[in-house]
Amino acid sequence: MHDTDVVVIGAGAAGIAAARRLTDKQIPNIVLEARNRIGGRAWTHTASGFPLDLGCGYLHSGDENDWAEIAPTLGLTVDRTRLGWDRTAIEANFSAADQDSFWRAFERLEDRAEEAEEAGIDCPVSTLLKPGGRWNALINALATYIDGVELDQLTAVEYDVYRDTEVNWRVREGYGALIATYAKPLDIRLECPASLIDHSGKRLRIVTPQGDITARAAIIAVPPTLIANGTLRFAPAIPDKLAAAHALPLGVADKVFLSVDKADDLPRETVLFGSTTSTATGLYSLRPFGWPLIQGYFGGACSRALEMKGDGAFASFAIEELCGVLGNTWRSRLHPIIETAWAGDPWSLGAYSYAGKNARANRATLAAPVDERLFFAGEHCSDKDFSTAHGAYRAGKKAAKGAVKALKALGA
Ligand SMILES: Cc1cc2nc3c(=O)[nH]c(=O)nc-3n(C[C@H](O)[C@H](O)[C@H](O)COP(=O)(O)OP(=O)(O)OC[C@H]3O[C@@H](n4cnc5c(N)ncnc54)[C@H](O)[C@@H]3O)c2cc1C
Repeated sequence: MHDTDVVVIGAGAAGIAAARRLTDKQIPNIVLEARNRIGGRAWTHTASGFPLDLGCGYLHSGDENDWAEIAPTLGLTVDRTRLGWDRTAIEANFSAADQDSFWRAFERLEDRAEEAEEAGIDCPVSTLLKPGGRWNALINALATYIDGVELDQLTAVEYDVYRDTEVNWRVREGYGALIATYAKPLDIRLECPASLIDHSGKRLRIVTPQGDITARAAIIAVPPTLIANGTLRFAPAIPDKLAAAHALPLGVADKVFLSVDKADDLPRETVLFGSTTSTATGLYSLRPFGWPLIQGYFGGACSRALEMKGDGAFASFAIEELCGVLGNTWRSRLHPIIETAWAGDPWSLGAYSYAGKNARANRATLAAPVDERLFFAGEHCSDKDFSTAHGAYRAGKKAAKGAVKALKALGA
């Protein structure tokens, strides 16, 4: 039996931000992490010699992203290269005129979503697509990368609320590496999943395979999927949290990395869609940082289906699509490095949270403290920065502020 002031459950971006804040305020705390590594959905893979981000990779809203400020303080490099996602240098399957036409159609959809949001109309974004629109399938593909689901599962009310300054930076050493480095001073117990928070007594009792821990407060920074499926339970039960966790699932996004022989034949830092007429397609980043590799990005139903096919399915799909655009001579020059399966990952069960019709209010329900001693964090708790690592950071910091205030009120 251990004893501390605050137990933080989950060593992802949110839990780490929370624990750093508690530590800065000299509040004794312990972080419990289910996996054998820290970072959660922030994870940089280095075995290939390049820091490959298998989860978050872009510092979205970089000009106001807390992680972008933290990186240099840890000796890491923020890369401010403008990422031209709206323009591809590869016109084989997407002419410049078609690119213009596509982005105009996308902007019109965003305008309609804004109007719906302003009018308080909670409708699936798919109902705002131009009926029979030429670019509907590709717009839907884009939604799967951004939100992890197709437009029919997203509410217009939330679609427009998401805060985006459209500045997307990267960390040269990896976003996952940045978050893991920030966690270094913390007391983190790995392979220590919390299964129960007993809040019936004066002190909280957190049940783990490494023994029970008692604490005055807890910050619960696990994805809502783990609360919904009962991996982490509360005694007594908290029915509104459970209902909200069920109503705010995670969508799916996955990545594959391929190494490229004689990569100089490809332009660096550009993207291409595998298909411009299908929703089940990948978005490929060619030679990020000039490295001799390609990152494939998948989302929604396409991602789920490829995960179900098993290891190697993303790489095969990607190589087919890339050869379809670049030519068959590339087949022998593309080699799988690694691919993800976030929907099947038992400690996240998805990539990022999304709100369907009538579901947006669940973010606030999930974020609300209970009895001023159970505090909640995670990207899903963020009102406007949801689905991102900086949203998770802010939610973690906010939960820690709440815990510090509550402990002070109790005379800590
Ligand atoms: C493929 C992909 C690409 C992405 N791209 C971007 C991007 O470019 N930019 C961006 O900002 N965001 C991106 N994201 C989203 C971003 O990674 C997440 O929003 C963010 O990392 C979530 O942080 P979190 O702390 O809320 O949750 P998590 O990172 O999921 O952390 C929760 C932690 O809790 C642990 N845990 C779960 N259950 C228990 C338990 N019972 N006991 C103890 N520990 C438990 C988990 O193992 C995990 O470590 C991407 C995500 C994916 C999957």
